[in-house]
Amino acid sequence: MSLSVSRRLAAVTAFAVAGLFASAVPAALAAPTAVAAAPTPPDIPLANVKAHLSQLSTIAANDGGNRAHGRAGYKASIDYVKGKLDAAGFTTTLQTFTSSGATGYNLIADWPGGDPNSVLMAGSHLDSVTAGAGINDNGSGSAAVLETALAVSRAGLQPTKHLRFGWWGAEELGLIGSKYYVNNLPAAEKAKLSGYLNFDMIGSPNPGYFVYDDDPTIEQTFKNYYAGLGVPTEIETEGDGRSDHAPFKNAGIPVGGLFSGADYTKTAAQAQKWGGTSGQAFDRCYHSSCDSLTNINDTALDRNSDAVAYAIWTLGAGTAVPPGRSFENTADVNIPDSPAAAVSSPITVTGVTGNAPATTKVDVNIVHTYRGDLVVDLVAPDGTVYNLHNRSGGSADNLVQTYTVNASSEVANGVWNLRVKDSAAQDVGYINSWKITF
Ligand SMILES: [Zn+2]
Repeated sequence: MSLSVSRRLAAVTAFAVAGLFASAVPAALAAPTAVAAAPTPPDIPLANVKAHLSQLSTIAANDGGNRAHGRAGYKASIDYVKGKLDAAGFTTTLQTFTSSGATGYNLIADWPGGDPNSVLMAGSHLDSVTAGAGINDNGSGSAAVLETALAVSRAGLQPTKHLRFGWWGAEELGLIGSKYYVNNLPAAEKAKLSGYLNFDMIGSPNPGYFVYDDDPTIEQTFKNYYAGLGVPTEIETEGDGRSDHAPFKNAGIPVGGLFSGADYTKTAAQAQKWGGTSGQAFDRCYHSSCDSLTNINDTALDRNSDAVAYAIWTLGAGTAVPPGRSFENTADVNIPDSPAAAVSSPITVTGVTGNAPATTKVDVNIVHTYRGDLVVDLVAPDGTVYNLHNRSGGSADNLVQTYTVNASSEVANGVWNLRVKDSAAQDVGYINSWKITF
């Protein structure tokens, strides 16, 4: 279905195609627009994340040394997070439930905007065990998700998807809060959840870098982030089904997440690639009184906090339905030598709902003997021009490259053109093929 355009055009001569569609894009409409990249994920300030941890530590100290379900320290933790989000412009909802005879609380924060039918959610449990303040478990995830939400507000981010953040109660009693949320979500609302990202223990003092092995797109997003840092990751196995992603996964919602290790022991091989101490637990203070402010590895917390933001920015920018649809034109279009008019290769896009994504991909394959001659534009159905290539690359042959274009202001359906102009004499070539992916 997605290749229908090229199939049809293959029967037409390249010359006729070029002539027909070049005239369909009047130069008068072609006010040049720079290729706008998808918004760059921010570097989450470690100091801000640690300031949240300090607040949670103080809350525990003031309320008997913990932030467990049913204790004053838990409710104070919820109030702290809610206060920050309310001030930042989130729509917050406090959901109450009862467990072990005590009132529990989930906090849900919606960022206004985005596609209400495609919701990206990130969450973490905010309760500790009764033994301690729960700074790594799970102040770390809670603080990173909170600071990412605040970064969304600071950036005024308006992603394609609707963003939602959650802080769960009574996780330590058996995922009580997150189960309650998922079980009470109407089927129609569950269907709108495009993904749930879970962060439970991401600042372990002897850290590993574990990525949940669940939804492939989410998993790859985190792996891409870590590949960019040059930090190897492993598949998370220790916490499988032991945290708040489990109820979402059981409801058929794509899930993923990060984890820096609990009471499993770091092997020699892991210590070699990640540093730290082999033969020792990733978190020796797991569920203990020593899970305090000193029970945090700053590097792990910093990297993982940035990874939370990277995933929200990257996955939030994606298209709603259906992602990854490609349309291609493989008919050759001759590029006449300068001075000559530009030529265009058209692709008709049909069946895509709404606007093109902020991460529209354009694969260009031009055979040419001197690519420094070429000006290459993507022309949207309404005539908006996105310059892809402007005579760079010198005397190198051919232009075979993928471009990411923020085409989020363009309706996806319609005729898109790859327009090529040769701006210097002597060398010639042709558009071999091109492809647009939403
Ligand atoms: Zn936990």
